[in-house]
Amino acid sequence: METVAVVRCLSYDAEEVAAAVRRVFSLCGMTAEQIPSPLLLKPNMLSARPPEDGVTTHPALLEAVRAAAPSSRMLIGDSPANAERPIEQYWDACGYRSAAGRMGASLVKFDSALVIEVSAGSETLSVPVTRLLKETAVLNLPKLKTHGLTGLTCSVKNLYGLIPGYHKSMLHGRFVTPDDFSRFLAAYYRAIQPRVFFSLVDAVTVMEGNGPSSGTLRHLGYIVGGRNCLAVDIVCCKLFGIPRRSVPHLNFLMEEEGPPEIAIVGDGVSGGRPARLPQGFSVRTLSHLAPLRPLLRLVGTLFVIEPEVNRRRCTKCQACVQVCPRDAISRQIAINRKRCIRCLCCFEVCPNRAIRVRKSFLARTLT
Ligand code: SF4
Ligand code: SF4
Repeated sequence: METVAVVRCLSYDAEEVAAAVRRVFSLCGMTAEQIPSPLLLKPNMLSARPPEDGVTTHPALLEAVRAAAPSSRMLIGDSPANAERPIEQYWDACGYRSAAGRMGASLVKFDSALVIEVSAGSETLSVPVTRLLKETAVLNLPKLKTHGLTGLTCSVKNLYGLIPGYHKSMLHGRFVTPDDFSRFLAAYYRAIQPRVFFSLVDAVTVMEGNGPSSGTLRHLGYIVGGRNCLAVDIVCCKLFGIPRRSVPHLNFLMEEEGPPEIAIVGDGVSGGRPARLPQGFSVRTLSHLAPLRPLLRLVGTLFVIEPEVNRRRCTKCQACVQVCPRDAISRQIAINRKRCIRCLCCFEVCPNRAIRVRKSFLARTLT
């Protein structure tokens, strides 16, 4: 039985978050002494944006973990998709540098790697992850958001950031369709799972619609935690109003392992309204349902979902150029449609909302 604690937390007030995090650990039967040392805190540091933008894990959660485990040696690290931008800018914008100072924690870069074997389908891949995992347990600190490629980003998806720099983009280039990428993500999670000590989800303010970076903020008012990332994400789907069956990587994990038996403790899960999914997400998922394939092949040229640059917003910062796994964006920010695999990494990293998802009439109609 997997225990998942769901605790009300209505704001990012430091004392309220600290009390909620202490309660999550306690409900999961965890004492301060059981929290490992050293411990890598892995927030979602997708973009160099301030906490109030709701794109990244709020630093109050990191400080609350420190308060719950005062004697653990703590490191804070994540590897954003855009490895060209100095990571110090992320630490400053996200509030992690000042939090680390107050916590006595070290900010770390993922600049050396060890290789893990990931069995995805018929092939086994060697995937680099931060070398810190050799001796350090991970406390996963995801931000609950919708995601244009995977439907949801929470505990399982947040662990993808343990892969350093552009290797993440290269994997997007290798696993082109949402289903293929989600299948890889499920396999990667199985390989990395033993190194993850706990997952503590920032579900106080969440992002719906065009997540993970351009969506709409929604106040949910929870902190959720547990040892099993799949179980935690299933509970978060309920809280957020996303049918778990529509999140392909959770689906693949459940197909292989069966749904985990979950004991929800704490304040319980009351059904809220359904979350708004990212533009085009349902269509891209549908496009991989076998019965629709012949039809969609026929109308394939009419069925288009692709990134488009808004030149008025674009500052030519080059973040999208650097992250594109197919070198499909020129330095003048023109997208080569023939090279583009529609992974939407560019949409994810753009700090200015200058990339939107364009849908053809058919795609809009089927959404
Ligand atoms: S589209 Fe966005 S990420 Fe790309 S150069 Fe313009 S502002 Fe930067
Ligand atoms: S242009 Fe954007 S969507 Fe297309 S391959 Fe590059 S990063 Fe992916």
